[in-house]
Amino acid sequence: MAYSGPFTIEAKTSDFLERDPAIFIDGERLSPAGRDMLPVYDPSSGRPIAHMVDALDEDVDRAVRSASAAFRDGRWRNMRPADRERILYRFSGLIEQNAEALAQLESLEQGKSIHLARLFASGASSEWLRYAAGLTTKITGQSLELSLPPGPDHWTAYTRREPIGVVAAIAPWNFPMLIAIWKIAPALAAGCSIVLKPSEFTPLSALWLAELAIEAGVPAGVFNVVTGRGGGAGGALVRHRLVNKISFTGSTATGKAIGHCAMDAMVPASLELGGKNPAIVLADADMDGTVAGLMMGAFFNQGQVCAAASRLYVEAAAHDRLVAALEAAIRSMPVGPGLDPDAQVNPLVSAVHLEKVNRYLDDARAKGATVIGGAPVPADGGYYAGPALVLEAGDDVALVREEVFGPLLNVAKVADRQEAVARANDTEMGLTASVWTSDLSAAMTLTRQLEAGTVWVNAHNFIDPNMPFGGMKQSGIGRDFGTEWLNAYTDIKSVCIAH
Ligand code: NAD
Repeated sequence: MAYSGPFTIEAKTSDFLERDPAIFIDGERLSPAGRDMLPVYDPSSGRPIAHMVDALDEDVDRAVRSASAAFRDGRWRNMRPADRERILYRFSGLIEQNAEALAQLESLEQGKSIHLARLFASGASSEWLRYAAGLTTKITGQSLELSLPPGPDHWTAYTRREPIGVVAAIAPWNFPMLIAIWKIAPALAAGCSIVLKPSEFTPLSALWLAELAIEAGVPAGVFNVVTGRGGGAGGALVRHRLVNKISFTGSTATGKAIGHCAMDAMVPASLELGGKNPAIVLADADMDGTVAGLMMGAFFNQGQVCAAASRLYVEAAAHDRLVAALEAAIRSMPVGPGLDPDAQVNPLVSAVHLEKVNRYLDDARAKGATVIGGAPVPADGGYYAGPALVLEAGDDVALVREEVFGPLLNVAKVADRQEAVARANDTEMGLTASVWTSDLSAAMTLTRQLEAGTVWVNAHNFIDPNMPFGGMKQSGIGRDFGTEWLNAYTDIKSVCIAH
């Protein structure tokens, strides 16, 4: 298989696509005989560019056993933290050295703009990995004063933070490389071993990362990758009895099923799930800045972003001006493959996803909503959907209540900020929200009232390795990033010494 489209790609990217499909276990690419091979499509043409192994339970078992052996013999967790740190910095450096080739791979397998892929695949991945590398040498416990008889002079007690063990990591397709790093980086920094299953739509970059990790000096067996379907390889991984921690990013429905598995095995699970994120625009908001920010907030990566704004609540005085400006902006976006540097409307990830997005739009139209834009974009077999504004949809219409994960922004006119915040919070989700205003006092009040793990003011979709990210309500359990990031990959041991 290979890429045969109209753009020139790096030799490293095309060589990678031409390699035999494989999984990565114990430091090696393996191509087990007799497995089904599933195609990986270029979303801009619908043509296959590679194949992946549909791993079976026995492949997953081998990967978990490899991770478990590596954990038990201490080849990684017992290495000096400063050495682990140095290796992770080297891993980050290798991502930088291969940045353009990796960005092209991300653009090809996921469909995203090459500009975004440079920023949010290779660029951000090396950045987040560097942040986690720095935490490797800052793992601490606490000293404890005890009240037990015969008194504090007779006890020395403290806690140790120890790596939790074998991590089963399951990633989605929207930012395949970066979200893989969000799992690999804290797991490796904490001293864990990991088996990662990327999405069946975007399995390739994880395999490349595994090779770079080995090249950087991560010992064989510490980081393994199995590819395959969710219900197949994914299910086998989260149910494996040698797994000590599950780290999942994906939809709320899958997250709930995985949460049940974790509970059955009594292992902790970090669940980073879906969003139905509101943006509130007050009448005094700076219009140009708000339009630019909302275009990024709602349509960045074709809205295939867990944090994307999908429900807009606008004070009546600003509504018509804002809709007109957003309409002008969405109608001026050139369409094309992610590798086309001028294209701003790129394909969705898959044919199935395109159908889903169009179903939501059809349903809203049938229920009386007005749709601006959103017409299917004819383009050479690619999975394109134009960005759309949806007006006058009732709060019970499916696209107002459910995560679409596409380029659709529902716009509702509200009388005042109280109505805006009440409707913004009227959702089972709680991942992100934003407030657009020049009134600092209103902004501060709304940031307190909004039920979301991240609230932005005059911005949407900005994340940073030093800012915890995760969901309230059904958007998940746990937080990634920040200095606490590693704690989810450690366990606490209390040590109590009598003297
Ligand atoms: P998904 O839930 O369909 O799949 C996610 C991963 O889970 C894939 O690797 C899939 O193969 C696997 N999977 C599916 N069923 C499984 C099972 N029964 N057992 C084990 N693994 C299984 O999600 P998706 O469509 O890939 O991604 C989109 C979703 O991810 C959206 O809901 C989005 O909001 C969410 N997401 C959340 C965040 C966050 O940080 N909160 C970030 C990115 C994406």
